[in-house]
Amino acid sequence: MSALSPELEAFRARVVAFMEPHVAEFGQAARLGLSLDDDVALARRWQATKAAAGFAGLTFPTEYGGAGLSQIEQVLFVEEEAARGFPSAYFVISLSMPIPMMLRYATPEQKARFVPPALRGEQMWSQLFSEPSTGSDLAAVRTRAVRDGDDWILSGQKVWTTFAQYSDYGVIVARSDPDAPKHRGLTYFFVDLKAPGVTVRPIRQLHGAEEFNEVFFDDVRIPDAWRLGEVGAGFRLAVETLMIERYTAAADETGFGPPLDALVALAQETQVDGRPASQDGRVRGVIARAFATQQALSAIHEKSVLELAAGREPGPEGSIHKLVGARGRREVAICALDLLGADGLRFDAGAHPRPKTDFAMSWMDQPTLRIAGGTDEMLLNTVAERILGLPQDYRPDKAPR
Ligand SMILES: Cc1cc2nc3c(=O)[nH]c(=O)nc-3n(C[C@H](O)[C@H](O)[C@H](O)COP(=O)(O)OP(=O)(O)OC[C@H]3O[C@@H](n4cnc5c(N)ncnc54)[C@H](O)[C@@H]3O)c2cc1C
Repeated sequence: MSALSPELEAFRARVVAFMEPHVAEFGQAARLGLSLDDDVALARRWQATKAAAGFAGLTFPTEYGGAGLSQIEQVLFVEEEAARGFPSAYFVISLSMPIPMMLRYATPEQKARFVPPALRGEQMWSQLFSEPSTGSDLAAVRTRAVRDGDDWILSGQKVWTTFAQYSDYGVIVARSDPDAPKHRGLTYFFVDLKAPGVTVRPIRQLHGAEEFNEVFFDDVRIPDAWRLGEVGAGFRLAVETLMIERYTAAADETGFGPPLDALVALAQETQVDGRPASQDGRVRGVIARAFATQQALSAIHEKSVLELAAGREPGPEGSIHKLVGARGRREVAICALDLLGADGLRFDAGAHPRPKTDFAMSWMDQPTLRIAGGTDEMLLNTVAERILGLPQDYRPDKAPR
């Protein structure tokens, strides 16, 4: 029996009825073999299709093209989307960080101008926080913002900016006061990534794809009206950006790798010492551990869904989800590659990698999950301090020991 209310079950049924006719055009099978450019183009069409049906921006206000629903409907929608392998990942950053910040801090005119095209997939937004010497320690940002009349002049470099090569705009945090304590000298803006002085340079990854970029700002002029929040409030807004809808990102118990069934099928059809690998104790151990881990993560996810359905915020358990899911994905991928032998590392360098369907891609891509959205070590700090209530780790930049 479902623990969700009849209304939420009815919503899920409506979502399924909407998605099913689109599986052939946008589902996992339709995307295999596509280049990154073609997959992004498909994702834009899927986003437009969702918007036309009233399913884009489920939690956004209706006056800006959203559906005015709550986070629980969003989680249910994403579960169904993920189950069919639709190309929604390209808009995750855009619609779960920069655009919600625009909704909180931009003027009504700016919201009316920027939110609807983002919801329809016509414009994509990036999050420009990390720099060559700044990642976990966000307050150490060096990109400068210098006031010049009614404008600001941006200069510096960002890095690891996901999908910046496809983006029209981005939110950025820059140092506006080099003399203030580092957490108080930052200011938050939105910026036109096609403006003069912006250079976007894609970074080639191990598996051939270019999902990240270096972004250079050479005296880029932006109006003060594009500042979000107060001068000096940039650190607080950057943290707020990272906290918005953080739970949805944590909801895949395979760690965004292939489903465990794919390893079971491989173990059944591969021979080890003249017997199916599924009879080998080591392989069985990996499968059993992964199954137990995934069951535990599903239970954590279900608990969080119920918290949302009851109108409460899920706790910091989302940190455990990513931490454990990413490690599980690695063990499963290594076991699969052992079974596949040399064939396991063959891949189509022209096609966009599909870590969810291919064990070699999953293995090559897995380390990024241990870094993105908070590194393993930072998440362990969260678990220690916020879940277990242990004293805060030594932070030399905050206070002397
Ligand atoms: C898939 C992916 C997508 C990304 N997309 C974006 C994006 O769109 N926009 C953007 O701005 N950035 C993006 N990033 C960058 C990401 O935010 C940073 O890589 C991340 O914050 C870590 O920063 P860093 O790489 O500078 O490593 P560092 O912060 O230098 O960390 C190096 C090592 O030190 C450890 N460490 C650091 N501080 C502590 C501490 N206090 N306690 C214990 N250990 C610590 C870390 O865990 C890590 O092992 C992305 C990264 C990935 C992998």
